[in-house]
Amino acid sequence: MRLNNSESCYVCARRACGLAVGNAHRRAWYCEMCTIELAVEAINMNLDPIEKQTIVNIAEKAGKEVTLTGEDVNAFIEWVIQEYSNEMRNAVNNVMETF
Ligand SMILES: [Zn+2]
Repeated sequence: MRLNNSESCYVCARRACGLAVGNAHRRAWYCEMCTIELAVEAINMNLDPIEKQTIVNIAEKAGKEVTLTGEDVNAFIEWVIQEYSNEMRNAVNNVMETF
């Protein structure tokens, strides 16, 4: 859960930079890559459908059957984290552009 989590960017799940939006009960930290505008937009919307679609998109990119061993697992996890960050930024930007 990224809400009220000072360690994780609310938009993309990367490490937060120490800045947040929201209030004392519902606070969203964001990272250096995501802007305050993205964080405000993200905290004011229900991200569940976008997050679900992001996961589906990444799963499709990864392929249906992934068999990894050793250091390949680390590289795959790094790739997923990076892809998730990029997909979430794109998804939130696309939502913002429709308004
Ligand atoms: Zn971020």
